[in-house]
Amino acid sequence: MSDSFEIRCKGVGVSEGLVVGRVLRMHGNTGYIYRARIEAAELEQELERFQAAVRLSRSQLQAIKDRAERELGKDHAYIFDAHLLLLEDEKLINDVENSIRTEQANAEWALKVVSDRLMSVYSEIKDDYLRERGSDIEDVVQRLLVALSGEQPAHRNLSEDAVIVSQELLPSAVAELDLDFARAVATDSGGWTSHMAIIARGLGIPAVVGLRDFYRRARTGDTIIVDSSRNEVILNPTRATFERYQSETASRVTTRATEPARQVGPLRTMDGVEIRLRANVELPAEFSAVRTYDAQGVGLYRSEFLLARRGVLVSEEQQYVAYAQIAEVAGKDGAIVRLFDLGAEKDFDSAQEPERNPALGLRAIRYGLRNEEIMRTQMRAILRAASTGNLDIVLPMVGDASDVRRARRILDEEVASLAKAQVPHGQVRVGAMIETPSAVIVADSIAAIVDFFELGTNDLVQYTLAVDRGNEGVAEWFRTLHPAVLYGINRSLEAARKRGIGTIVCGEMASTPAYATLLIGLGATDLSMIPSAMPRIRRVLSQIDSTIVRGIAQECLACETADDVEDLVRERFRASWPGVFPLSSLPVPRKR
Ligand code: PEP
Ligand code: MG
Repeated sequence: MSDSFEIRCKGVGVSEGLVVGRVLRMHGNTGYIYRARIEAAELEQELERFQAAVRLSRSQLQAIKDRAERELGKDHAYIFDAHLLLLEDEKLINDVENSIRTEQANAEWALKVVSDRLMSVYSEIKDDYLRERGSDIEDVVQRLLVALSGEQPAHRNLSEDAVIVSQELLPSAVAELDLDFARAVATDSGGWTSHMAIIARGLGIPAVVGLRDFYRRARTGDTIIVDSSRNEVILNPTRATFERYQSETASRVTTRATEPARQVGPLRTMDGVEIRLRANVELPAEFSAVRTYDAQGVGLYRSEFLLARRGVLVSEEQQYVAYAQIAEVAGKDGAIVRLFDLGAEKDFDSAQEPERNPALGLRAIRYGLRNEEIMRTQMRAILRAASTGNLDIVLPMVGDASDVRRARRILDEEVASLAKAQVPHGQVRVGAMIETPSAVIVADSIAAIVDFFELGTNDLVQYTLAVDRGNEGVAEWFRTLHPAVLYGINRSLEAARKRGIGTIVCGEMASTPAYATLLIGLGATDLSMIPSAMPRIRRVLSQIDSTIVRGIAQECLACETADDVEDLVRERFRASWPGVFPLSSLPVPRKR
């Protein structure tokens, strides 16, 4: 708390709540390393700094190894032995120290030069095992760099009032965190549909993202207020601000406690159209909410969050346990497991070369088809778990029918081999995520060979409009109600309808009242969302009339720009259902 000077930063509140806590800075890992010249008199100090980083990394690795042994068994913990050995490796350590001395270079630079040289030797080795050691070096070097930067490693236990402040919090880091104590999150980058935001909403952790230049100004231990409803964070608040917010937090908690916790039973629009609401889940911490909010099963299980720990692949057995658990959580309505949607923002594979354009790179189903063993293992685990409950599979980011055919062929082979080996397994239906323009354009042919569609509107907006969903710099062009997006949704729904298959809309659009209403107007009847959004969606959809919104949706489809659609939605919704849509839930008029 300061007596005079506070910093206020505006961003986008993506997960509701107000929190007063303390900053815990988390390394953004930009990958840039600069060379600095160290004066002769300061060389000893620089060497000591490097040695301290080695000692710290060693004790961290030992702790991780112990934890891995406890939680995953000895078989998995051996990876960390290799890392520990590297820190004992005199060649690596001596070379870095020599380079600091002779080149008068800072430790980061010396480490980078030495490790790059070493890794280029490993990358040319033909032997797979030895080549893999190159990625161990990379991992250890990353750890040393974080230690040198004085940042906290991502997986430390958090203190009770920790507010995580980062440039960018990638899903791998989120999944690695012990989030029981994280009170809130504030990041420089990100938007409403970035995975960080989705996870924060799922766990009920307040978050403000897109703060641009906040990380640099915050220090670990600073007092911070995260106020999502005002799209704001306040660093080192003055005493007056602090006290005002303290009392506001207390009163908001009481208000929330009086809200109806859940509503159950079938949901129908005023004119009797039945709407099914399913749950999107990622982490075990979210599972209990499926029942609490009476979701009709799990519409989207983002299975890649099982691969949270870098460098640790989850075995078939561990996956089996996880899928059986999600089947149990989902109950009779079942769960749809999405095959690993790896790549792009969700890069859990530290060994992979960074791509120039990850969103258009080896992502999702492409990653699975290229790494067939990983896909086969996952399919086997799902098929086996399907003997214990009701599970289906959805293929992420298919481009056309050939992606589906290739994946289906692999699935058929796995079914046959389980049957031959008399391993108990169940039947699964196969769906396709429709989230690229190409999938929309050839939706008819995809619909002919799958059992259902899932509309991933987060990516559909990103790819249709060519706007990065996690880049706050282009957030004003990320327009969910763009006519081109509505066209894509409409066309996909029609293709599914013609083939007699269902469509579940599972992007963030489904959890936003005005957007969900428009989806009903376009003919959607199945929505999947974070469970805590369900009461709000139930309240709104139970008060609207589907025939009226169908007319409005047709008008929207004929609009030329996102501004026109938003104006229309605002006016028509308020006129048709006064009081149902609070102003804050409708698109805000833009300056033109
Ligand atoms: C989507 O793209 O809308 C979606 C549901 O998947 P994800 O957000 O995980 O990319
Ligand atoms: Mg997607």
